[in-house]
Amino acid sequence: MISLQPVRGTQDLLPETMRRHRHITETARRLAALYGFCEIATPVFEFTEVFARPIGEHTDIVSKEMYTFLDRGGEEITLRPEATAGIVRAVLSNGLTQSAPLKFFYTGPMFRYERPQKGRFRQFHQIDVEILGVPQPQADIELIALGWRVLNRLGIGQQVVVELNTLGDRESRSAYRDALVSYLSARQAHLSEESRGRLARNPLRILDSKDEGDRRIVAEAPEFSAFLNPASSAFFARVQAGLDQLGIAYRLNPRLVRGLDYYSHTVFEFVTTALGAQGTVLAGGRYDGLVELMGGPRMAGVGWAAGVERLAMLIGDPPTEPRPFVVIPIGEEAEAMALTIAETLRSDDYRVELSYSGNLSRRLRYANRIAARGALLIGEDERARNVVKVRDLDSGEECEVLLDPLLSNLRERLKALSEAG
Ligand code: ATP
Ligand code: MG
Repeated sequence: MISLQPVRGTQDLLPETMRRHRHITETARRLAALYGFCEIATPVFEFTEVFARPIGEHTDIVSKEMYTFLDRGGEEITLRPEATAGIVRAVLSNGLTQSAPLKFFYTGPMFRYERPQKGRFRQFHQIDVEILGVPQPQADIELIALGWRVLNRLGIGQQVVVELNTLGDRESRSAYRDALVSYLSARQAHLSEESRGRLARNPLRILDSKDEGDRRIVAEAPEFSAFLNPASSAFFARVQAGLDQLGIAYRLNPRLVRGLDYYSHTVFEFVTTALGAQGTVLAGGRYDGLVELMGGPRMAGVGWAAGVERLAMLIGDPPTEPRPFVVIPIGEEAEAMALTIAETLRSDDYRVELSYSGNLSRRLRYANRIAARGALLIGEDERARNVVKVRDLDSGEECEVLLDPLLSNLRERLKALSEAG
């Protein structure tokens, strides 16, 4: 027997859910286009090193979440856990660095071997935007503005707050890192085991620990702001001024660090309390060192990714699509006629379903189930007289429409019904 249980952490997106996903990605795609983002797609799998080095060996993703395997040719392959590294690889592979600034929009499935729970899956979907080659804070501001616009257009702006922090440039970060390590080392005995492990490898992540004891220690830790050099402070001030100017509210969160190694300067998360522990719906930041780290030239970058499944749990019902019509033929000859009528009406962009079998009442039940606006009934009698009975399925009213060669009468009737709602 084949197991009918989908692999843990994966799920089928049935039409109702898929409609929500599509509404989210289409809204984001449309709004991103207003800012000049162009859509790009990269392979779902890459050589493991494309992710391992840039994301960082000591991150959760690389140390325990990647789907890595040897393919039949012995290549070490990883299913992408996020989009940025693949996009940067594509920019380098295709020699696009000369065409900066580059602005990319991306959407697709990502894979992480995590403990599945509400809002956390092993295959999930992200919307992703990246700006490459713009070292100025305008890029950070525009990206956050775009994220904000997407959430507002989806009707969930009220439920989300923007948290903002800076990790400064390399110099500031290393000064802070030293101070943090010396503060935490002195309290090492009271840290959780996980955080003790991170102390040497990835100390900034301790700021982000969910452990209660760690949190108490972290609350008293030195703050990043004291270690920012003037250039880093000025950069952050300009990002904040831009958001203020646009009226985008944000909350400074000096403890906000991102899971990936490659961030610098601005980091942000859009968070909600409506989803329990999985409250981050959109997250990103600046990654000025990444392109170089991957073997390219010095090239700035900033981007964000949003989790489609998490957004889908927050939004209301997506706008409804136009209601369909159902063509119901009774008898073989009427069926042939119905086929032509249905195809002709589809050329006019009407949504038309053919009713395939069953008695009249069963077919009408189907029409009701799919919320059809009207039914086109063709029985023997109608066929003989070259008419179609059009039933308004809301009012029950029926009228006969004569079939002229171009079906203009019928088209007019459907138009009237569609417009009536
Ligand atoms: P988290 O702290 O929730 O693990 P993360 O920092 O690992 O998030 P990112 O790598 O920043 O997440 O990914 C960006 C967004 O993608 C997240 O804010 C979230 O909305 C979504 N996301 C990340 N991992 C998952 C997952 N396993 N299932 C569903 N959505 C996810
Ligand atoms: Mg994670």
